[in-house]
Amino acid sequence: MKAGNIKDCLYRFGLRIFRVWRNRMGDCIFCKIIKGELPSEKVYEDDMIMCFKDLEPQAPVHVLIIPKKHIASMDELKDEDAQIIAHMNLKVKEIASALGLSNGYRVVINCGEDGLQTVPHLHMHLLGKRFMKWPPG
Ligand code: 5GP
Ligand code: ZN
Repeated sequence: MKAGNIKDCLYRFGLRIFRVWRNRMGDCIFCKIIKGELPSEKVYEDDMIMCFKDLEPQAPVHVLIIPKKHIASMDELKDEDAQIIAHMNLKVKEIASALGLSNGYRVVINCGEDGLQTVPHLHMHLLGKRFMKWPPG
């Protein structure tokens, strides 16, 4: 591995540790974004969900779709959240189309520690405008 790659890896790892620490302090950054207390580049919003650009894009198009209700993860979904999760899924194609992802895209939901979820507010990553690899790392 090249020195530059090692530096990059260490930076990303440090950033992840910082985010996990920040979230454990009790403040949910995505709830703050919803309330307008933190800035974001909004792409879409309605009464149930919000979509904004990821701070650290992993593809030319990388946005996050989140519910306005604070749900920590997929693991915390309840039957009463069925409408919200359905709405998030159904809006993907509309948002993807608005972002010009006519050649396909990827939707990812990380869950928990093994799933590398760093922000404990349910979110879908919508990535596109590049050819994806499989399997993901
Ligand atoms: P996770 O790792 O939990 O699946 O994804 C969290 C995502 O949120 C990451 O891709 C990260 O770049 C993004 N993120 C973390 N903090 C912020 C923030 O303050 N603003 C925005 N727009 N994205 C963020
Ligand atoms: Zn939240």
